[in-house]
Amino acid sequence: MIVRGAERIVANAEELCELDRAIGDGDHGTNMKRGLQAVLAKAEDIAALPTGEALSAIGRTLVMTVGGASGPLYGSFFLAAGAAIERGRRLPEDLVDVVTAGVDAVGARGRSTAGEKTMLDVLIPVLDTLKSEAGRADLLGQVKATARESTARTAPMLATKGRAAYLGLRSVGHVDPGARSSCLIVEAVCDTLEARR
Ligand code: ADP
Ligand code: MG
Repeated sequence: MIVRGAERIVANAEELCELDRAIGDGDHGTNMKRGLQAVLAKAEDIAALPTGEALSAIGRTLVMTVGGASGPLYGSFFLAAGAAIERGRRLPEDLVDVVTAGVDAVGARGRSTAGEKTMLDVLIPVLDTLKSEAGRADLLGQVKATARESTARTAPMLATKGRAAYLGLRSVGHVDPGARSSCLIVEAVCDTLEARR
């Protein structure tokens, strides 16, 4: 899962830069690629750790290497998800609690919430789908559909957080780069789980 998620970001870095050129400074793909390549370099060591520690190690690596606003935000997600497991949550049964911890940490770190044209506009709908569709046979397909649809829904939004907020109304009409990177990671995780079935 770690390798597939990281490779998906690296492979799509140019698209993420392109999106960030429209409403930011054009570096989201470069930032994320740097971070996920650092994760890839340690993937075997990370995968050998207990799950909570592995998630925390991913978080620390992203905080140290990504740069840009997205580094501490994605870092917070993985650190908080790892901490939830170290407090006794288990996967897969406590998935909703673990993802909730991650999403809440992004919102706390970014002082952001749904509707502000950020990565949270994918992460929150994905969490909502995990809650509402839990137990359904096609949960993974539902989650991927939510990730794609919620990414597209960031286009008409007005950015009120992050660099894109400086553009005001000119941020409208473009997909948010962080929403797209979240979508790519969610899709890669779901694809990996589907392939295992
Ligand atoms: P920077 O804006 O510093 O260049 P990146 O380009 O790597 O950083 O990341 C930009 C992305 O980070 C945005 O597209 C958005 O999804 C996300 N982002 C920025 N600020 C926030 C925030 N306060 N809360 C949640 N996500 C944010
Ligand atoms: Mg940027």
